Amino acid sequence: MISYPAKLNLAQTPTPLHKLARLSAKMAGPRIWIKRDDLTGCLTSGNKVRKLEFLLAEAVANGCDTIITSGGVQSNHCRAVAVLGAQLGLRVHLLLRSDIEPAPVGNLLLDQLVGATISHYSQDEFKQLDGLFAHWQTHYAQQGAKPFSIPTGGSNGTGVWGYIAAAEELKADFVRENISPSTIVHATGSGGTQAGLIVGCKIHNMPVQIEAYAVCDNVAYFDRKVRDDLRQWQEQFAPDMALDSLSINTNDQFVGPDYGVAPPEVFDTIKELAALEGVILDPVYTGKAFHGMLEGIRQGNYDKDSDIIFLHTGGLFGLLAQQDRLNF
Ligand SMILES: *Cc1c(COP(=O)(O)O)cnc(C)c1O
Repeated sequence: MISYPAKLNLAQTPTPLHKLARLSAKMAGPRIWIKRDDLTGCLTSGNKVRKLEFLLAEAVANGCDTIITSGGVQSNHCRAVAVLGAQLGLRVHLLLRSDIEPAPVGNLLLDQLVGATISHYSQDEFKQLDGLFAHWQTHYAQQGAKPFSIPTGGSNGTGVWGYIAAAEELKADFVRENISPSTIVHATGSGGTQAGLIVGCKIHNMPVQIEAYAVCDNVAYFDRKVRDDLRQWQEQFAPDMALDSLSINTNDQFVGPDYGVAPPEVFDTIKELAALEGVILDPVYTGKAFHGMLEGIRQGNYDKDSDIIFLHTGGLFGLLAQQDRLNF
């Protein structure tokens, strides 16, 4: 048995699991269910708050008063940290990546509204991200503050716990609904959700395939990143656990033009699901993964007589930042 480290109760959990009945009928494929981790909170919505329950518990336990973290300019993770910092009375400093002067919309608007300190860096400057973290760590320490750094996406050994806990929640969902899903589908970006689900389903004895759709990078990158996160987690928390046999199943066929940039068919999928089921996806993460899953169903990759779970990881504010691409 494993024992969870300390956590703060920051997420609205358990989140709902429900069937997408009209979409399932329309696709004539497997029964499609959706796990609504877009409902983990209003301003803290999405998957990141599950990791932050453990990461911020560590920060608070260490007496830290300043959180430094990083991400893209429309990062959902950075928005969740900024909002939680304001709720917990912690100073937040965001290191945000963008090559153009960013518009104060979507997540960035919320970051500003809740009073986060923001430093903007180019893609090139972000190549020295470790150095930027070290610089700001020293800066705050010299001021007598106690800084705590959280990596991009909250994906590290501690962050892995978020989706180990979510796997346990899903197990209870499956018992309640009396289903044994073959597959859990989700979007992967910094790898922590993927790592947590993979090891979480092993720990909780759930014989389900974790299928991650990349929204950036490629299969080799996620193999390495997920293994790194799992190795860190194991060294810190579970030295006796054998992880070598875990399979990492990433699909990089739906990344599209770039991180944060989706092709028109992803926006069509977002519109289709919104009108058919009243569920809103985003163009950076969930839209790409959901579109990939639907293509997989069309290609017959899923048994028609099975249940599959789409994990909705949030991202609504990222859609609002790209509203012109919806073409209404
Ligand atoms: C960050 C994010 C993901 C990817 O999760 P990782 O743990 O970083 O791989 C998926 N969906 C949304 C909406 C996100 O914000």
